[in-house]
This record gives sequence, structure tokens and C-alpha cells, in this order.
Amino acid sequence: MQHDVSHNEFQRAQQLIPGGVNSPARAFGGVGGEPPFIERGSGAYLYDVDGNKLLDYVGSWGPHILGHRHPAVIEAIQQTLARGTSFGAPTVQESELAELVIDAVPSIEQVRMVNSGTEATMSAIRLARGFTGRDKIIKFSGCYHGHVDSLLVQAGSAALTLGTPSSPGIPAGCTADTLSLEYNDTQQLAEVFAAQGSEIACVILEPVVGNMGVVAPSTEFLQTLRQLCDEHGALLIFDEVMTGFRVAYGGAQERFGMRPDLTTLGKIIGGGMPVGAYGGRADVMKSISPTGPVYQAGTLSGNPMAMACGIATLRTLKETDPYAELERKTKRLVAGLSKAAGKADVPHTVPHVGSMFTLFFNAEPVTNYTVSSRNDTERFARYFWGMLDRGFYLPCSQFEANFVSVCHTDEDIDATIAAAGESIAAAV
Ligand code: PLP
Repeated sequence: MQHDVSHNEFQRAQQLIPGGVNSPARAFGGVGGEPPFIERGSGAYLYDVDGNKLLDYVGSWGPHILGHRHPAVIEAIQQTLARGTSFGAPTVQESELAELVIDAVPSIEQVRMVNSGTEATMSAIRLARGFTGRDKIIKFSGCYHGHVDSLLVQAGSAALTLGTPSSPGIPAGCTADTLSLEYNDTQQLAEVFAAQGSEIACVILEPVVGNMGVVAPSTEFLQTLRQLCDEHGALLIFDEVMTGFRVAYGGAQERFGMRPDLTTLGKIIGGGMPVGAYGGRADVMKSISPTGPVYQAGTLSGNPMAMACGIATLRTLKETDPYAELERKTKRLVAGLSKAAGKADVPHTVPHVGSMFTLFFNAEPVTNYTVSSRNDTERFARYFWGMLDRGFYLPCSQFEANFVSVCHTDEDIDATIAAAGESIAAAV
């Protein structure tokens, strides 16, 4: 596969932009090589500047559950564009997207739009602290909640891939009140609550982790979280930036029958535009300015272009209800990948929740950060390049989720399994 034009563009970009990219994972640091530069997307495929066609399992890191350039989404953007891009004043579209979110996500009674997942989690943490009058927060190692100072402690995603799960530049004071615990470790959680429960403002977690690869929560872990937060007056925050409208229309909380106090959203609710949101119990949300004292604002928050894109995406998901079909296709894919890895006698597990999955080169079930850090990342890199050479665009790290979209066909999936068989065998 030719990559000459991408190579030249990457050389140019590196002179102009740190690492040549505007978000670190895109530089392919975890797999050691150069990224293709993308010209356009259509359905399940990306087309790069060298003319290569790539079957896409990244989906812009989650938003594109409907595939690229879904007609309903493109039409909504075009219609909105004709009226102007941003007014910094209330619009009907903000209420429309809020209604769709509140209608879908069981625990959300009120919601505030922001511009990214990072803004959503940052604001939710501030709100939880303001509402409870407490400072300490609990997060879990390997979960990634954006690049919020207080949450970049043993974080997943590119922070983990690049070996910097905690970042320089964050004063010790910013993370002094952050407790990072092991995911799925109910006993450790209970011990920390027993010792410091009255000081804890909130617990934030990915209710299905995507950012150390896909890791599912145990039922006991989820139930204990809810129970301990209730007992100690702490707020439970589900970071559903990735799982919202992904693992079910109403997110992980619908799938698991859980009620967090606050939820953060992003990715799919923007349909590919920059949108984040946080919402939850009305009594808590009323503490935000202007109804309450906890300050949070945004020049472009709720802008019409982003709202239109989100509305079209959620309406399409609501009308077409693709979740059972997405799950069926993902099951077919993970079964095929598992068989291929088994045939090559390569240690592996392939967990999936809904249409999120990861092929871990690790024989142990990956339940937390400690186990995830034992994945064979070198084998992964060889597999990754084998797949890219064959026209399959995967997340460029072991510590990420792959996403199946409504546009992936059974033929696409079978072709992926065949290519994976060859790539895994070549990567031994
Ligand atoms: N929370 C989770 C679970 C995420 O996966 C991400 C991004 O990948 C974020 C928060 C941050 O979102 P953003 O990159 O839009 O700031």
C-alpha cells in the first residue's frame, strides 16, 4: 500500500504542529509508524490522500455509529448552515437535543451542553464538589475522562499508550484530592469509603471501560458503587462519553439497569461535531449557574451546527433502533477474531459490550489496569500494521476500543476476520 502523500504531509505537519497532530493518539506513537492522512469518509470506509480505501473501526474514536456522511446528518448540517453558524443566544435546537437526551438516558432530568467530553467531566466534577461541599474524588486506574487536571491520574487511552498516564504540568495540589483505585475491586473501594467516606464528593467511572481496551464492570462492582455512594452521601458519576448511545440507546445505565446521579456524554451525541454534555438529578443540576452558584459557561456551547448534527444522529438511532443488529455483527466479528487467534496459538481474549470490542493479546481476562498493562503491545503493533497493509483501519493501540457501525456489513466482517487470520499468523 502506497503512503507517499501521507508521508510528505506528515513531514510538513510535524514542522507546524507538535507531533504533527492535534490529539496525540493520531501520531501512531503506540505502534511506531506514520499515520495515513484522511481525505474523506463514506459509510464504513475512509479514503486517504494516497487513494487507499480503509475499512474503519475507529469511527473518529466513537462518534460515527451511523458511519461517515449519513444522509440524515449531512442534510441537517446543510439546512442549519444556511441560517448561520452560532448566535450565542438560546435556540430551539438546544431544547430539542436536551429532550432527546433526557428521554433516552434514564437518570438525566436536566442536561447542560458543552463542547467536548473533557469539558463535560471537568464540569461534572466541579458540580459534584460544589453540591456536596467536599473535595475528594475517586476515579479508577485505566479510565480516561479527558485531559482534566484532576483526572489525569493513572489515566487510560493515549496517556496510557504513550507511557504518561499522569502528566507533568499538573500541580500536586490539583491531584491531591484524587484517589485512583483499581477497576472492579469492590473490596478496595469499600475500604477507602470506610476510611474517608465523609470527605468524598463523587466517584467517576467509565461504566464500560474503552480506554484501557474494553473492560466490562462486574455486577457486584456496580452495585457496590451505588450502595457506598448512597451510604456516604457521595455522587456517582457515569462517564458515558463513549458508552452513551453506543452500548444501548440509553447507554450503559440502561444496559445495566443503573441510576447514577450525574452522567457525562460526548462523541455520539455530537454525531461528529464537537459536543459534550453533563446531566442528571434536577436538584443537583440546579446548582449550576445561573440557577445556582457553581460556575460553568461556554461561548459556543449548544451552537446550532453541533445541535443539528446531534439531533439528526439521535433521531436516526431512535427511529432505526440498530442495537440488536450491531450486537449480532460484533459477536460474529469477535468470534471470528478469537478463532483466528486460537488457530495461530496466540494468547488472546476478545471482550465486547454491544458494538465496542478489543482484541487483547493477553490470555488472562482483562478486568483492570494491572492486567491490561500486561498486554503484549509488541505483538499488537505487528498485528496492527498487518491489518493496515490489508486495508483495515484499527485504533493504533492495545488500550483502545474498536467500534462497529451500522454500515459494517457481514461481508466487511468476514473480510476483517480473514485479514486478521493472516495478520495474526504473520505477527507471531
Ligand atoms: N471520557 C471518555 C470516557 C472518553 O473516552 C473521552 C475521550 O475519548 C473523554 C471523556 C474526553 O472526551 P474529549 O476527547 O471529547 O474531550
